Amino acid sequence: MGDLFLLIVGVQGSGKGTQAAHLTERYGIPHVSTGDLFRAMRTRSDPLAQRIQAEMAAGKLIDDATTNEVLKDRLEQSDAAHGALLDGYPRNLVQAQFLTDYLASRGQKLNAVLQLELDLYTAFKRSFGRATSKDGRAYNYYNKSEGVSWLVEQDPDKEFPPRLIGTLDTTGEVLNRRPDDANAFGVIERIEKFLSETQPVLPYYQALGLVRSVDASLSIDEVRDRLVEIVEDVR
Ligand code: AMP
Repeated sequence: MGDLFLLIVGVQGSGKGTQAAHLTERYGIPHVSTGDLFRAMRTRSDPLAQRIQAEMAAGKLIDDATTNEVLKDRLEQSDAAHGALLDGYPRNLVQAQFLTDYLASRGQKLNAVLQLELDLYTAFKRSFGRATSKDGRAYNYYNKSEGVSWLVEQDPDKEFPPRLIGTLDTTGEVLNRRPDDANAFGVIERIEKFLSETQPVLPYYQALGLVRSVDASLSIDEVRDRLVEIVEDVR
């Protein structure tokens, strides 16, 4: 079986996490997210880890030299010898070129860039409308609401968007909303950040003919099947 290096790109709400988990399991490759690698350094107290923590907290990108080094260290581990699913990297052309050169130095290359395409309003609704029950089921104010009653509570001063409160009809359980989903401004900020940090690398990969797009407004299963078709095609 040949090597399989993939890059997955998708806005908040595109189902990137779900699809990434499926692909890594199906193809036995590690999920390599530079964001996760940096977050894992939080428990370290050395100067490098401290600096990274401060920059992440300020919402800044980590410098390319550090990021490339962290990525290279991760790809040097044995589980990534024949492939990986990259997520959150590269974020700019310097990183993209580094990845190309680094893989070439190993006699390998990126097989495809998997782009989960979603219009931004749907992306917003998927995050802002999301709520989960204690048993882990997902509901959404905008579409998947059977068995749930929604209360839309206006902010008294109308300074903030309304609060969405979902209650399960059967048990009266109040659904949980992640604080970062409940914050409409935060959701939009994350979408904007995705656009500004990811768009710049797409033309680079388009020019190499590597970008394969899937309509992420389809169901999880449909998106999954299309991604598998693409991977089968490129490996
Ligand atoms: P993420 O989970 O991908 O949104 O990443 C969280 C944070 O980690 C980002 O806001 C950056 O501070 C940092 N980070 C992750 N990946 C990169 C990257 N490829 N280049 C620079 N900084 C990154």
